Parts: sequence; structure tokens; C-alpha cells
Amino acid sequence: MGQQKTFENFPCGIMIVSNLVSIAIYLIGAYIIYHLGIIWLVLYLLYILGLEIRLMKRSCVNCYYYGKFCAFGKGKISSLFFKKGNPKAFLKDKIAWKDILPDFLVSIIPVVAGIVLLILKFNWLMLLLIALLVILASVGNSFVRGSLACKFCKQREIGCPAEQLFNKRKK
Ligand code: SF4
Repeated sequence: MGQQKTFENFPCGIMIVSNLVSIAIYLIGAYIIYHLGIIWLVLYLLYILGLEIRLMKRSCVNCYYYGKFCAFGKGKISSLFFKKGNPKAFLKDKIAWKDILPDFLVSIIPVVAGIVLLILKFNWLMLLLIALLVILASVGNSFVRGSLACKFCKQREIGCPAEQLFNKRKK
């Protein structure tokens, strides 16, 4: 069997689709949270910003793609703001489900908020957005990881604790 192809720099098409899924999740989440009040919207957006900064500061600096275009382009963005870390540290960090709970909360919080809003006052648009958010966060993210990002990732070949955690489920 031939070796799986990996990218030194991911093509634009993959970066666009991968980011579109994340951006769609953020926008739908923000729209739902907006119905709770502007303060909650600001807190939600700050939470997302905090997660993105944490990812680039703690993980991307140690990743093979630091300074390059990974599937999300974040290796490049990270190199503009943070110093290169230690690639060996990327492999050392064992990741458990609790470590990625903060990332899941980006979708879980608006879904729960949307359900509460629906109970208080039914609205077809809200129901549709909740369904879309659930699909993007599950099927959409799984498609991006499995078919676009991890599949062609050099860091996966070197070793990636996150990818190993996700794949454990499939074994
Ligand atoms: S294997 Fe997947 S999770 Fe790990 S660095 Fe590559 S794209 Fe990211």
C-alpha cells in the first residue's frame, strides 16, 4: 500500500473549508447567545477568543506546522504572535476528554441556551439553528478532522495526542 500523502503547507481550499465550519459554528453560537443579552454575547465571544489564543500559544508553537500553513492556517498566525516552542513538548502532553471540554463548550453552551429559549418561546428559526449547530459540531467537525485536516497532517505522522484520542473511539 502507498504511503498516505501529507502536506508541507495545506492548500487554500482545505484551509477555507476547515475554517468555514469553525466560523459557522461561532456565528450560529453567537446569534443564539445574543438572544440572552448583549453581555452574554460579549462573554461568549471573549471565551472563543481566549480558546483560540490558548491554542496558538500552547499547542501551535510546538507543532510541526509552526510558521507554516496547517489545515486551519493557525501555524502561520501563531508564528506572527508567539515564539517557536519545543516540538518534543507536542508529543509529551497526553490529552484526555476533559482537556478538550472547553472546546466542546463553544457548541454545547449555545445549544443548551437555544433549547431553554425554545421552551420559553417556540421559534422555528431557533430550532433550525440549533439543529445546524449540532450537525456542524458533530458531522462537520468530524469531516474536517477525518477527511481534510488530520488525514494529510505531518504532525499526525510524527505523533499527535489529540488525533490519537479521537481515533481511540474508532478502534
Ligand atoms: S493530527 Fe489533526 S489534531 Fe493533530 S495537529 Fe494534525 S490536524 Fe491538528
